[in-house]
Amino acid sequence: MKLHELSKMTEGLENTERMPALFLGHGSPMNAIEENEFTAGFRKVGREITRPTAILVISAHWETQGTFVTAMESPRTIHDFGGFPKALFDVQYPAPGSPDLARETKNLVKKTEVGLDEKWGLDHGAWSVIKHLYPSADVPVIQMSLDYRQTAQWHYELAKELAALRRKGVLIVGSGNRVHNLGLVEWRRLSETFGYDWAMEASDKMKKSILSGDHQPLINFRSQGRAFELAIPTPEHYLPLLYTLALQEKGEEVTLFNDRAVAGALTMTSVRVG
Ligand code: ZN
Repeated sequence: MKLHELSKMTEGLENTERMPALFLGHGSPMNAIEENEFTAGFRKVGREITRPTAILVISAHWETQGTFVTAMESPRTIHDFGGFPKALFDVQYPAPGSPDLARETKNLVKKTEVGLDEKWGLDHGAWSVIKHLYPSADVPVIQMSLDYRQTAQWHYELAKELAALRRKGVLIVGSGNRVHNLGLVEWRRLSETFGYDWAMEASDKMKKSILSGDHQPLINFRSQGRAFELAIPTPEHYLPLLYTLALQEKGEEVTLFNDRAVAGALTMTSVRVG
């Protein structure tokens, strides 16, 4: 591609300093309305980083055949869960969308055809955490879906193509949980911070790779043994982490926060790149 074409492609948004990229462990949807150490961690990172011009969220809760970005002006708040109190269903997060960012993202990605979606909105993987960072819902938010047919390596490579958005004031957020086995979660102890041995083993291994920038074992998560198999029974809550890590540039710092396990089989560990 010629340079003038590249600059034309991203001319819609102004150049900025490089924004951090985040992975947010979202955990139980109740974190949306509770006050706890994790929501305090979300608020803190929201205060620490430069206010973004827009947010692009890759949420565990939007899996599609193909890759899509939400392109509507006003995304609806999706309550994609059951069995929770009415107070949680009453939550609305009326952040605007950004059709401009959706189009820019579509133009930027070469690895696959990105579809513009008018039907989705913001699922709880996005709003339950973003609302703590930006409670006034005044930063535009779009989501990018996870193509469930693709490999971890494919997702990692796709994420790298989003890098230019970080210099357009866009905060890229992966939202999931690194260790996430709902079948083994002790639901009655959801507010207790503890992890089973296998969960802590997987968590520690992941942590080492994240902090050393050694991403290949994380991409090859299927061949990391029994602890990883238990930690990642299905990939959708794990893959958003790879989107965030793929954006790490040479020499860029990585820090962890909310680094705790809850209810045995879930980690809330969140990652800040840059
Ligand atoms: Zn989830």
